[in-house]
Amino acid sequence: MNDIMLSDTIAAVSTALGEGGIAIIRVSGPKAISEVAPLFRSRISINEVDSHTVHYGHIVSPADGDHIEEVLVTVMRAPRSFTTEDVVEISAHGGIISVRRVMDLLLQQDIRLAEPGEFTKRAFLNGRIDLSQAEAVIDLIRSKSDRAFSVALKQVSGSLSQRIHELRQSLIETLAHIEVNIDYPEHDVESLTSEFIKTKSREGMDGINKLLKTANEGKILREGITTAIIGRPNVGKSSLLNALARDNKAIVTDIPGTTRDVIEEYVTINNIPLKLLDTAGIRETMDVVEKIGVERSKIAFNEADLILLVLNSNEPLHEDELALMEQISGRQVLVIMNKMDLPSRLDQNVLLRYFDPANIVPMSVIEEEGLDKLEDAISALFFGGKLESGDLTYVSNVRHIALLKKAYQSLQDAYDAAELLVPIDMIQIDVRLAWEQLGEIVGDTAADSLLDQIFSQFCLGK
Ligand code: GDP
Repeated sequence: MNDIMLSDTIAAVSTALGEGGIAIIRVSGPKAISEVAPLFRSRISINEVDSHTVHYGHIVSPADGDHIEEVLVTVMRAPRSFTTEDVVEISAHGGIISVRRVMDLLLQQDIRLAEPGEFTKRAFLNGRIDLSQAEAVIDLIRSKSDRAFSVALKQVSGSLSQRIHELRQSLIETLAHIEVNIDYPEHDVESLTSEFIKTKSREGMDGINKLLKTANEGKILREGITTAIIGRPNVGKSSLLNALARDNKAIVTDIPGTTRDVIEEYVTINNIPLKLLDTAGIRETMDVVEKIGVERSKIAFNEADLILLVLNSNEPLHEDELALMEQISGRQVLVIMNKMDLPSRLDQNVLLRYFDPANIVPMSVIEEEGLDKLEDAISALFFGGKLESGDLTYVSNVRHIALLKKAYQSLQDAYDAAELLVPIDMIQIDVRLAWEQLGEIVGDTAADSLLDQIFSQFCLGK
């Protein structure tokens, strides 16, 4: 592919910038070892050391031999490294100056600064991982829950790639079969081939469908369920948010309507990440600042996948709340009857007109009662019960989902054409298209612009 780029030797700081125990600077490329060697003084030159060994020494200025930093240097020779190239990792003291001093020296050698994601991009271009695995590396870094992490880790190891590979293999066999028919039309197997194509297209569509079925759950795991907490002032929305988040980012007070803005926060429930939108309440108000909050709240709850309607069970239902229930009927709603520690003054029969009893959760946020019930209710609503812990192959990436849908359509077209006994060489085009669309998922048939766009999402040094 891009030979000029791959012949460069690149370097970047791979740990997060700032103060820390250690910082790791990664160097990769054909000259990684030979260009670092003159800067590194230790018992033995890294030009001579074995692969996968660690060496203590100092980074020195080649001009005057001054000690720049005390380091450990790890050498990994091609092809047994993340990029499959020669890689040198320099572990320096954590801190901005230390890292800058070492980087300055490296960049004076025949080494250039890596672009964001360039190490992973090289791993891809050099064939160590495919595109879906590379994308899963981003997911790993960004995962918001243990489960999302496990799913991404599985994908990094090639679980999705394997499924895609099987689907494409079957399509290749179909194409080969069609090819034989086109080359030897005298065999008169036209109608047999149509049947064969129909069977194979159906198989392919079923396989794709199985993957697409995981997409919804996959998306939830990846991005979280966008959740709006709504309700009248003082019912306990902020308290709930805080109980879920276990810190005090939202303001909790006794003055009605003090949560003035939409606050976004991630929490996990049973390993399901929720992207919480705290809202300012539904009360009409003359307060200008608060009005902005109320407007935003409306937007927020329109966007939400899940609405948590908080009620104060210590008060009768308010007309605002009835109006709100009308407004949100048909959405995914869980009703939280808060303040159950106080005497009940709320008529539950009214609630039952709007909501399934399973979706009404009695709770006392202050006494931390009922949170587990809320967790169960969310699981039931979005995953039809408890999450399985078995197969973790999920399609969660929107790019993958779009391509799977396209490939499905192409196979549907092939199936329909075969049904109508359209000439085989026409059908071949659809099957080939499906094969290419699946190939784009793993990067077999991906354009350079797409690669740039994907790898630019990475952080520097990855
Ligand atoms: P918001 O306006 O809906 O965000 O309500 P807040 O979270 O600010 O809570 C309003 C008041 O209700 C605060 O004084 C909370 O301490 C109190 N509160 C919240 N949850 C409970 C609960 O479960 N029981 C009782 N007794 N008080 C609660």
